[in-house]
Amino acid sequence: MAVDYQSLAVKGVQALSPYQPGKPIEELARELGLEPSDIIKLASNENPLGPSDKALAAARNALEEMCLYPDGNGFDLKQALARRFGVQMNQITLGNGSNDVLEVITRCFADADSSVVFSQYAFAVYPLVTQAIGANGVSVPAQDWGHDLDAMAAAVTEHTRLVFVANPNNPTGTVHGAAAIEAFLDRIPERVIVVLDEAYCEYLVGDEYPDGIKLLHKYPNLIVCRTFSKAWGLAALRVGYSISSPAIADILNRVRQPFNVDTVALAAATAVLEDDAYLQKSREINAAGLRQLEAGFERMGLPYIPSAGNFIAVDVGASAADIYQTLLAHGVIVRPVAGYGMPRHLRVSVGLPEENERFLAALDEVLVAGGREA
Ligand SMILES: *Cc1c(COP(=O)(O)O)cnc(C)c1O
Repeated sequence: MAVDYQSLAVKGVQALSPYQPGKPIEELARELGLEPSDIIKLASNENPLGPSDKALAAARNALEEMCLYPDGNGFDLKQALARRFGVQMNQITLGNGSNDVLEVITRCFADADSSVVFSQYAFAVYPLVTQAIGANGVSVPAQDWGHDLDAMAAAVTEHTRLVFVANPNNPTGTVHGAAAIEAFLDRIPERVIVVLDEAYCEYLVGDEYPDGIKLLHKYPNLIVCRTFSKAWGLAALRVGYSISSPAIADILNRVRQPFNVDTVALAAATAVLEDDAYLQKSREINAAGLRQLEAGFERMGLPYIPSAGNFIAVDVGASAADIYQTLLAHGVIVRPVAGYGMPRHLRVSVGLPEENERFLAALDEVLVAGGREA
């Protein structure tokens, strides 16, 4: 009798539906018979500036070493991160994107007998990695699209091993201030690991926001995750990292793959940390783009969720899936978020001013054609 190999997969994996990435430009170009340059993609929270010149030069240089294994300890990058953030190198764990680190953390600290707490509408990777290892994911209802931190603290039981907090959160863009995050951490037992995912922290300006790294001395159960994919503009190279106590970092570093960050990525990330002008420009273009998109949504009378990230979720009504498809036909790729339980919203990444304008014009046209008052 033929073996049903899918039935051999472990239970959590059998029921898994894969992470849905934004549609690649080349794919839509093939489908529509267009040139990639005719298409704009505002779907994956990528940096619209293109890469930093310093990162690009370092990456090109590093290609010369492609026949050698990378530095499995990522010495130069860890040293640069340690200097920048005032931490020790043994507190750092590098990952193939912070997704990798999130997965390693989950595998290290949770198993089938554990519960893992996260928020409704939180980043899709948390439930995904939780399910893959067969742990019990506890999704806590959101409050005004954001994490209900009180309810999340209350959801922690004796079985809870991990709590994920995205600050700012993707795809809602909601953010909690420093006082709220500290009050939350005060309520979590020290034996429960809290992952503070700060993928968008570089866009936060102001003392009212928490800096997870500064909280590490007070909360030894905290792991702060960050990435080079967003404000630092290196999404394709896959570099992320966590900063934690040395004891936790030691565990994570035992489990991660020995060469999980490649030579080109290490070189580019180390170099981009020297490019504060690039970071500053990223912040400026993002702040201006958010204002531009908000103004456009207000003109069209569309409710949106105020965002602290480099993207914004807008309520386009019940036919969001159709509007997404029609925007594709206009050569504009955004992100439907029905998979997050947000069937009326589209998530739009902040682009360059002309990209934002083209998206707004296309959206306006699609809505008017769909019978909505202009
Ligand atoms: C984009 C994102 C990440 C990280 O992505 P990597 O490219 O894997 O570093 C992590 N968390 C959130 C909330 C994100 O939106």
